[in-house]
Amino acid sequence: MSTQFRRATQHLEQLLLHATHAELAEQLAPRHGDLPPRVPGGTRVTPEAIAQRWNLLPVSTQCKTALTDATTRLDPNTYRRNIENYIGTIQLPVGLAGPLRVNGLFARGDYYVPLATTEAALVASYDRGAHLMSMAGGCSAVLLAEGVSRAPGFAFHSISEASVFVSWAVANFEHFRTVAAETTRHGALIDLRVTIEGNYAFLVFDYTTGDAAGQNMVTIATEAICKYIIGNSPVTPEYHFIEANLSGDKKASAQSFQSVRGKKVSADVTITAELVEQLLHTTVERMVDYWRMSTMGGAMSGIMGVQGHYANGLAALYLACGQDVACVAESAVGITRFEMTGDGSLYATVMLPNLIVGTVGGGTQLPTQAACLEILGLAGEGKARAFAEVCAAVALAGELSIAGALSAGDFTRAHQRLARATQKKVGE
Ligand code: NAP
Repeated sequence: MSTQFRRATQHLEQLLLHATHAELAEQLAPRHGDLPPRVPGGTRVTPEAIAQRWNLLPVSTQCKTALTDATTRLDPNTYRRNIENYIGTIQLPVGLAGPLRVNGLFARGDYYVPLATTEAALVASYDRGAHLMSMAGGCSAVLLAEGVSRAPGFAFHSISEASVFVSWAVANFEHFRTVAAETTRHGALIDLRVTIEGNYAFLVFDYTTGDAAGQNMVTIATEAICKYIIGNSPVTPEYHFIEANLSGDKKASAQSFQSVRGKKVSADVTITAELVEQLLHTTVERMVDYWRMSTMGGAMSGIMGVQGHYANGLAALYLACGQDVACVAESAVGITRFEMTGDGSLYATVMLPNLIVGTVGGGTQLPTQAACLEILGLAGEGKARAFAEVCAAVALAGELSIAGALSAGDFTRAHQRLARATQKKVGE
C-alpha cells in the first residue's frame, strides 16, 4: 500500500472514530431554512451603511476599532471604487529593502523598495539580495514585450460555421481596432490570435494598456468588440462569453513562455566570487550546484518555469504598491538561471513573462499604496515600464538571497532567528 493511501485511510478512520456514517452524512448534508441577513449595501460607504454591516457581527468593540481606526474613518469614500460591502481596512507592516541598483531600459537608479508582508525574514532576505546586486554594480533589466489579452469564446452549430466566423473576424481586425479605440484613450488593440475547437471559436485580443495594468481596460474594449461582432458577423453564434479562459488571467499557464501577459522582463547580474563569499557566506560553485539541483526538483514537481520564490517578493511589492495581488498567480512564473563565468564569478538571471502591473488605475491611487509608489519614485503616468523592470530586479534579488541561504546552510537559522525569536519574547 502506498504511503499516501495509508495516510488517507488513517485520517478517515480517525474522523470516523467520533461519528457514525449516519452522523457524518447528517453533518455534511445541505441545510435549508432561515439564513442570517445578507450583507447590505454594495458600494455605499456612508456611516449608516458601514454601521449596518457591523451590526451583523457579534464582535467586540476592540475588533471593530481594529478595522476602523481614526485614519480609516476619516474618509471611507477613498475606498469606494476599490471595494464592495466595505467595513474598514486592515493594516500590514511595510519594510524597506535597498538600495536596489537597476540599470534598465526604463528603470535607472537606486531604489528603496517597500514590501508589505506578515512573513518575517522576507524583507531581510530581499534586502540582502538587493545589497549584493548593488555592490556588484546593479542588475541590467530589459522590458522585452508588452500586452494584455482578453479571450472571448463563441459557440456555433458546426465547425464550418466557426471557420467562416474566424475568417470574417481576422478580415475585420481593423474594425475591431476602431471599436476598441472608442472605449479608451490609453489602450490599443494590437493583435488577434484565433483558435477553433470543434464548433467553438476563441478570439484572443491583445492590447497595450499604457501605464495601467489593464484588465478592466481590455474587458471594456472587448465587450464593445463583442457587441460589434454580434451585430455584424455573417454567422450568429448560439452564445458567447467575454472571457473563455484562454487569456491566462490570474492563472499560471503553459502559454506563459510563448507570449507575454502584462510585461515581460529579463534581468541579469554578474557577481564576483569575493562578493558572494563575503555577503552570502558561500561559494559560486555551491550556488550553481544548488541551482542545478533545484532545477531538477522543479522539473520533477512539474512547476511552470523554474524559480525559487518569485511569489514572496512580488506579493509583498504588489500589496505595498496597489497592484492586484491575485495576479501573482500568473506573475510569479518564470525562469531563474545561475552559471559560473570563465573568471569564476556568478552569472544570475531571471525572466518573468507575465508581470501584470500598473502605476495608474486599480489600487495605485489609494493613499498608502500611492505613497509606496512615491517611495520608489514610480507613481503615476509614464512609470509602468520602469516599475515592471524593478519587479524583475526584486525577483532576482530574492533568488540570489534564498539560494545563498540554502547554499550556506543559513535558511533555517535565519527563519528561526527572525520569526521565532520575537514570538518567544511575546510569550515570556
Ligand atoms: P482601471 O482603473 O480600471 O483603468 C485605468 C484608468 O486610468 C482608465 O480610466 C484610463 O483611461 C486611465 N488612465 C489615465 N492615464 C492613464 C495612462 N497613462 N495609462 C493608462 N491608463 C490611464 O485599471 P485597469 O488597469 O484597466 O484595471 C485594473 C483593475 O482591474 C485592477 O484593480 C484589477 O483588480 C481589476 N480586474 C478587472 C478584471 C476584469 O475583468 N474586469 C479582472 C481582473 C482584475 P482610459 O481608459 O481612457 O485610457
